[in-house]
Amino acid sequence: MKNHKPTILRIAVPTPLRRSFDYLAPTGCDLTRLQPGMRVRIPFHNRQMVGILLEVCDQSEFAVHKLKQAVEIIDDYPVVSADVMQLCLWAAEYYHHPLGDVLETALPTLLRQGKPLALSQETYWTVTPEALALDFTSLNRSPRQQELLSWLIQHPEGVSKRQIKERDIPSTMMNTLCKKGWATKISKDDILIPSLEIPEPALTLNAAQQHAVTVINAAENFHVFLLDGVTGSGKTEVYLQAISAVLAKGKQVLVLVPEIGLTPQTLERFRKRFSVPVVALHSGLTDKERLNAFLNTQYDHAKIIIGTRSAIFSPFKNLGLIIVDEEHDLSFKQHDGFRYHARDLAIMRAQSNNISIVLGSATPSLETLCRTQQGRYQHLRLPERAGDANIPVFSVLDIRKQHLEEGISQSLLSAMKTHLDKGDQVMLFLNRRGFAPVFMCHSCGWMAKCQRCDSRLTYHSEPSRLHCHHCDSRRSIPKKCDACGENDLQIIGLGTERLEQALQKHFPNFSIARIDRDSTQRKGSMENLLEKIQSGEHQILIGTQMLAKGHHFPNVTLVGIIDTDGGFFSSDFRALERMGQLILQVAGRAGRVSKPGTVVLQTHHPDHPLLHQLLRESYHFFATTLLQERAQALLPPYAFLALFRAEAHDAEQAHQFLQHIKKITDTFAEKMSIWGPVAAPMAKRSGRYRMQLLFQADQRPLLQRYLKKLLPEIEKIPSKHQVRWSLDVDPLEMF
Ligand code: ADP
Ligand code: ZN
Ligand code: ZN
Repeated sequence: MKNHKPTILRIAVPTPLRRSFDYLAPTGCDLTRLQPGMRVRIPFHNRQMVGILLEVCDQSEFAVHKLKQAVEIIDDYPVVSADVMQLCLWAAEYYHHPLGDVLETALPTLLRQGKPLALSQETYWTVTPEALALDFTSLNRSPRQQELLSWLIQHPEGVSKRQIKERDIPSTMMNTLCKKGWATKISKDDILIPSLEIPEPALTLNAAQQHAVTVINAAENFHVFLLDGVTGSGKTEVYLQAISAVLAKGKQVLVLVPEIGLTPQTLERFRKRFSVPVVALHSGLTDKERLNAFLNTQYDHAKIIIGTRSAIFSPFKNLGLIIVDEEHDLSFKQHDGFRYHARDLAIMRAQSNNISIVLGSATPSLETLCRTQQGRYQHLRLPERAGDANIPVFSVLDIRKQHLEEGISQSLLSAMKTHLDKGDQVMLFLNRRGFAPVFMCHSCGWMAKCQRCDSRLTYHSEPSRLHCHHCDSRRSIPKKCDACGENDLQIIGLGTERLEQALQKHFPNFSIARIDRDSTQRKGSMENLLEKIQSGEHQILIGTQMLAKGHHFPNVTLVGIIDTDGGFFSSDFRALERMGQLILQVAGRAGRVSKPGTVVLQTHHPDHPLLHQLLRESYHFFATTLLQERAQALLPPYAFLALFRAEAHDAEQAHQFLQHIKKITDTFAEKMSIWGPVAAPMAKRSGRYRMQLLFQADQRPLLQRYLKKLLPEIEKIPSKHQVRWSLDVDPLEMF
């Protein structure tokens, strides 16, 4: 046939190139069953890769005889559903990121590798008939075994390794049960089915909570709600009751939480309330578990999916509600590669599914507050703490001219003593890990710096070393000064290790838990520490911002913020917003039950007006002032930013590259503000010099038009191979 048109498969391939690739359909492939979103195995530069079918067409901008043939169509149905495809297309366009890479983010590793779309077998434990016949009172002397057995009995379908791990049950205990003949292992498909445990009853809501639940449940179409409730106001209870209504309609729910927020306690709270399968997506899952979670979500077996950032790409069959907890949290933004914001994508997804989304926070981001003021989001407030708990009392401690013992004032020490003597717990917040931030020669002023970064090395005492927190390089502690050879070396400043050491001396009769990136590196150590804090084994808690978020420590009655002033001096225009959020989140750990809480802030700027607004008025007062400043300076949320970053071993190369980008825009008819190129706040990192170029527009569409015109031109810049460059749309951090 002369006019027979070829069948061309347009495919997204995970490469840095911002374009799709055309292939001929594999021989003998049934064209009628091809659907966008299926995986296709293709030859690509001497190897095979897995791409995603975007469309089937009969024309290509390339000569048809030059097109290669695809190897095979891997799937029988699309792995990327229409709704996820739409989200990915939107994200690729908005963030100007290669679609192939975006789609890759949406898939579990095993699917990216081309593995089959099927649940894999898992090991399960079930109870035996012997166990069912057992007289439980005979187990009264081993309450844990008793508890474990009754849990197994409530799960006749069997419990998986994952469930056992999540419950923190040691595998030796399972083995004991097997040896006694009460439990047995079986192997089967990892299909989730409802548990038979009797769900915990819902709490009786207070008036503000009831109002929020009623309004959320009444919404039938796309709606964005800001659930704005002080810490401990019972936002989670509102989520749970809104979820309950959605589950009753047979729909699925997505709950996005910050990286740190997915604690076993959080999960437990959801699992205990509902008998439906709850899937948790977090970094601790194996590839197999992740694939099974993906499929269980797609098959509609999993009804509630709780996960961090990338869970926004989960393949729901029947999504009915999205919740973004702690919506202000920075971890929702991916800060390398595909730099998306999960909260913003969640709003897009809710819109295209025509469902509601609830953004919850005690300290909403200025972006969200601004949109709420504009009437685009509906504001739901929980102004008081739930139950018997009260808002903590703030005490601003002027530490100017005060004698400090390793950074702590006498007043804070005596407040600590009072609380500890009463049997309560005390939490100190210091956002600096290590022993001390500066290691310096007293003879000549030399300071230990990182060879590869524009930063100082932090002194660590356990194990003892100098450590760069930016590139991770380490060196042993020098005996003599690098510059003058004297041995008059001093350790200056305060980190969590030093604070711990000082407090140990001061409070020898109390036990201290330190929670920072160093102390929680080993898997499970965080859970372990948290458990010991809950059980009261530790009375003093020291932590960085890891400790600030989401945790519920009922016996903490005093919170001390060692260094309040960090945000006053940063060059980042968001520093004050962050500082306010962090102070209130940390403060929110105090007095969460009936015991009243006190928060002591050590500061050298006790009269700072913003600090007063935050503590004496409210977060809203504080945020309104910041919003006015942002409006005047034409900064987000009243302006829209895009940041080009470039790094190279030679600073000039990075500079030239960004200069070139700027020059391209000279030819554009529309004008906007462009700042730079300038050195990044951290001018050198891991041996590379870093420059940046900032675009600032008062309208989003103008910025988008600019970027759209610009990117194809950037691809043509010859020197682009000499630099590492990236584009960050809506950057949250300017480093
Ligand atoms: P948030 O998420 O706003 O910080 P939580 O939902 O964790 O607050 O609630 C804080 C505490 O208050 C929890 O212990 C919770 O069980 C309790 N709580 C929430 N709502 C109520 C209510 N309506 N009545 C009694 N206690 C409540
Ligand atoms: Zn020296
Ligand atoms: Zn370094």
